[in-house]
Amino acid sequence: MGCLFCNIVEKKVPATVVYEDENTVAFRDIRPVAPTHVLIVPRKHIPGVRALSHEDEQTIGQLFVAARKVAHQEGLEANGYRLVVNDGDAAGQTVHHIHVHILGGRDLAWPPG
Ligand code: IMP
Repeated sequence: MGCLFCNIVEKKVPATVVYEDENTVAFRDIRPVAPTHVLIVPRKHIPGVRALSHEDEQTIGQLFVAARKVAHQEGLEANGYRLVVNDGDAAGQTVHHIHVHILGGRDLAWPPG
């Protein structure tokens, strides 16, 4: 069993991968809440924002730069898009491997639910 997103990174669990590089993997969310809904994760297992340390600064910077590449690749930059990171139960985090949701393709309400 182990971590679902580690298993996706290691190709032990299938996913629709749309981008990957040496540090990150991006794949389509299995239950999309927008026309474009991609998750981008570091290859390194980090449980969430609450577990970040100075050692992770480069990893998280790479994750956001890669998220921008995915948004460009998915054609989201003209109309805009949202990056979401849920951390902990109150935010609804269900997978404890840090990930950024890339949401686009429709107008997104604010504040979120
Ligand atoms: P969280 O609620 O911020 O932790 O987001 C976890 C996301 O992972 C949810 O949007 C789920 O739909 C998504 N998810 C769960 N299992 C899979 C899977 O096997 N492949 C792709 N996405 C998944």
